[in-house]
Amino acid sequence: MNRIFLASPHMSQQGYEQEYVQEAFDTNWIAPLGKNVNSFEDELAHMVGIQHAAALSSGTAAIHLALKAVGVEKDDIVFVQSLTFSATVNPIIYQHAKPVFIDSAPGDWNMDPEKLREAFKKYKPKAVIVVHLYGLSARIDEIKAICEEHNVPLIEDAAESLGTIYKDQWTGTYGDYGIYSFNGNKIITTSGGGMLVSDNKEGIDKARFWATQAREQAVHYQHEDIGYNYRLSNVLAGIGRGQLKVLEDRVEKKREIFNRYVEGFKDIEEITFIKERDNERANYWLSAIILESDKVTPVIIMDALSKENIESRPIWKPMHMQPVFEQYDAIGGEVSEAYFEKGLCLPSDTKMTDEEQDKVIEIIKALWS
Ligand SMILES: *Cc1c(COP(=O)(O)O)cnc(C)c1O
Repeated sequence: MNRIFLASPHMSQQGYEQEYVQEAFDTNWIAPLGKNVNSFEDELAHMVGIQHAAALSSGTAAIHLALKAVGVEKDDIVFVQSLTFSATVNPIIYQHAKPVFIDSAPGDWNMDPEKLREAFKKYKPKAVIVVHLYGLSARIDEIKAICEEHNVPLIEDAAESLGTIYKDQWTGTYGDYGIYSFNGNKIITTSGGGMLVSDNKEGIDKARFWATQAREQAVHYQHEDIGYNYRLSNVLAGIGRGQLKVLEDRVEKKREIFNRYVEGFKDIEEITFIKERDNERANYWLSAIILESDKVTPVIIMDALSKENIESRPIWKPMHMQPVFEQYDAIGGEVSEAYFEKGLCLPSDTKMTDEEQDKVIEIIKALWS
């Protein structure tokens, strides 16, 4: 019996990725940089509706360079959503800056604008990082307005939300900088990779410079700044170009999966969902449920699915609860703590068949009978 995954790489049926990778081989552009890298940047920027993009080795690298681009340095404060993956926060520490964790809004995975306002009464941050968790847009217009009011740059971690559109604008393009991830579990993948996007040309140029070891324009390898080896390889960018061509198909399938779960559990009141808002087209990267039951806990469901070789996962454990970040301040925390306690991510693999998904639904429903 095949394992049913949460999310796994899904290459195009047409073989687009292999054509671009073959082109890299045929022209011997196996080194980082080359036509696929430039085209991947242009094609993604065009698709999401932004001026500039830099292809990088990971989404984490993109967050790191976004922080550098907005000038985050030692001892600066950075406001960051608590309910997220650790990769959102680690680059703050790479810069020797200090995170302050902001809780989620009730009924929303993402940053609470009220809690953000509260945080601004206490601190003067150098940047704010908001996340669009599981492919659902944060209350981005409110959050952007608050940042503008305080004249603080906004970075959008859209690692999980490529393809999510809110009020006719792609998530990742609202902030001063946005980042996407092409890790193996994301909606499209290059096996590993990321993208930093912005309308700020100078910022993106600077990011490319840092990402290629901060080499000054001189034949003798002149260095006046610390650099990183953060560029995406031309081979992997070829996979990315092919994957971009099927992004819409993947979004459609993710949405279908989410809607089938909603329909499948409609008779079980103790299972609820966080859904897209008006004027939103969520990519529903992972379908997640919230359990309001004393009897059926996330662990019970995870065990039942695991016995049938089906993968599921708890909601991200909030960053303010993580031992590694315990010395940092948090504004609120109860909302994300409750999500962690009651939430569960269900298989959302775009290669999953309807029959396989029906099986997942039946196993879970049986726990109530
Ligand atoms: C995956 C992910 C990242 C990191 O992306 P990588 O490409 O794996 O470095 C950052 N933030 C969030 C919310 C993610 O889910």
